[in-house]
Amino acid sequence: MTGVLTSFLPGGWTGPIVLRGRGIGFAERSRSAHVEAPPAVSRRKPPQVGGEISVGSTAKRTVKLTISLLYYLGRGLLRSALRLAGGSPAPRLVILYYHGVPDAYRSNFVRQLESIRRKARVVPASHRGSLPPGRPNVAITFDDAYVSVAKNALPALTARGFHSTIFVPTRTLGGPPTWSMKAGSPDSIEIVMSAEQIARLPSALITVGAHSRTHPRLSRLAPSDARDEIEGSRLDLEGLTTQEIRLFALPYGDHDSSTIELCRMAGYEAVFSTTPTPVDTTGSGLVRGRVKVDPFDGRLEFFLKYNGAYAWAPFVSSLKRKLRNYKSFPADQKLSPGQLASYKQPKQS
Ligand SMILES: [Zn+2]
Repeated sequence: MTGVLTSFLPGGWTGPIVLRGRGIGFAERSRSAHVEAPPAVSRRKPPQVGGEISVGSTAKRTVKLTISLLYYLGRGLLRSALRLAGGSPAPRLVILYYHGVPDAYRSNFVRQLESIRRKARVVPASHRGSLPPGRPNVAITFDDAYVSVAKNALPALTARGFHSTIFVPTRTLGGPPTWSMKAGSPDSIEIVMSAEQIARLPSALITVGAHSRTHPRLSRLAPSDARDEIEGSRLDLEGLTTQEIRLFALPYGDHDSSTIELCRMAGYEAVFSTTPTPVDTTGSGLVRGRVKVDPFDGRLEFFLKYNGAYAWAPFVSSLKRKLRNYKSFPADQKLSPGQLASYKQPKQS
């Protein structure tokens, strides 16, 4: 039996990794477990800015991809066992978030939409209530409202009748992003849509949401400033569009409990983070997890993301944070496991 798993190769290029031999073959295992076989990865090169690969460590992505694949396969087996026992897991909503969709990756983005069209179902990110079983339920969102999204993503989404949500930072309209971002980020050359472009977005398929006014780390602001960013951006957008603004995406995913309370007080019905946890849409929770996707993600990477297979990541991040905290204390001041569990380090995202 031969199975072909695909992953990233070092150096920024994507390509196949072939695992051979009994017990490893993906296709046969997936059939017996009723897990859909993931697709192969295209040989796409991530974008480069200033001559350097700008999407983080390829090795890191490869490790995440491998863990996610194992998670996907293991979860498939568990679900099959559950079905055999007469149970059925409740469907969850996987909310994707993009930033820009540059010209060079328009066709790759279209290919991603086609993958969703064939194998999943698109629902609005604000959906509440039960979800139909059978296929993955996926919501598509865009942070920062870049012009490249209007140019390259929205026509492809509209052509397929896919709903999407665009989160707008309201004090940077028509100009380049003014907030801090990782060195070499492909977003550094983007332009935020103008007020006119935001106002013209068709509300039938596109929901406009707020993304603060100036894109700060909200947990680091004084409460009055955080309130101005959260509430003010909603007022800005309601003056600009005919839509009621009920959704808010946290810049950098950064928040603490007071940030969420301010969002609640401002009247938001859902607040979107950057934690890749699938959402129980039958619950009443305000905060919703999302998984980061890029138009240059490979086929397998994208497939695993919209199937919720990156849901393990928050647990590992939490564990790493606790270990870091533990190491940062002098030997004679180590915290007990109970103290360690309750110690909170400011979020870095
Ligand atoms: Zn943003």
